[in-house]
Amino acid sequence: MTDLSGKTVLVTGGARGLGAEAARRAVEAGARVVLTDLLEDEGRASAGKLGDAARFVRHDVTSEEDWRRVAAYAVAEFGGVDGLVNNAGISGGSHLLEEQTADDFRRVIDIDLTSVFLGMRTVIPLMRERGGGSIVNISSAAGLMGLAKTAGYGAAKWGVRGLTKLGAVELGAARIRVNSVHPGMIYTPMTAHVGIEQGEGKYPNTPMGRVGEPPEIAEAVAFLLSDAASYVTGAELAVDGGWTVGPTLPRPDGN
Ligand code: NAP
Repeated sequence: MTDLSGKTVLVTGGARGLGAEAARRAVEAGARVVLTDLLEDEGRASAGKLGDAARFVRHDVTSEEDWRRVAAYAVAEFGGVDGLVNNAGISGGSHLLEEQTADDFRRVIDIDLTSVFLGMRTVIPLMRERGGGSIVNISSAAGLMGLAKTAGYGAAKWGVRGLTKLGAVELGAARIRVNSVHPGMIYTPMTAHVGIEQGEGKYPNTPMGRVGEPPEIAEAVAFLLSDAASYVTGAELAVDGGWTVGPTLPRPDGN
């Protein structure tokens, strides 16, 4: 059983989807959580369901000022920060490289990559004060392979993986662990509109034949936040039903 008791964890993009589930799982494991998001109503509702161990703060992850405010809130409310889940992000739409506008590219990089840098930079001094910590950066399967029509998103998610590696190298001596999680196709508000279906056999693109569910990502995040992962840093954990491993074999039913 993953134990996060005594820890304070900050989860960005916590209003819904993977962030809301990561926050729920962290509270279940004993953590106090500050959920942040741009979506205020959904964020408050998600935090409200978790009781007194959770708080919601409105936060634009591209804003340095907002990061300072959120960190100060976590310190004032819960005494410090032991864990950060850099989860907020956008998909940036589906465009071929030659059709992606520079403005759209820059926007995705800002929200999906610069935000992760800002988050790491903000919490490092707080974690040093605590004698260590764990940063979990949510990348993507698109940060492990070349995925067509994801120019900005793919570049951002490869960047997140790179920041994770160099963060692990720079911060190991301070006992701050930095790891990336690479979800495959997971059923959330971000992906629901692309026409995927939940259930066995409904997603033949992956060896496991189905899309993933948010608790399957949240479990990996909780493990990396916890002391059970005390010697894990700089790792990239794919939670993708085998999508990035290689081509899928035909299914036994021929589909
Ligand atoms: P989601 O349901 O859309 O949740 C993402 C949350 O981040 C939304 O509430 C979104 O709010 C928020 N957000 C966007 N821009 C923000 C900003 N500037 N500041 C603060 N919050 C912001 O998406 P999800 O599927 O849970 O994805 C969570 C993370 O997992 C993302 O980094 C995503 O790239 C990654 N991921 C997801 C999948 C998947 O299959 N679902 C796969 C691989 C990786 P708005 O609605 O206002 O934008």
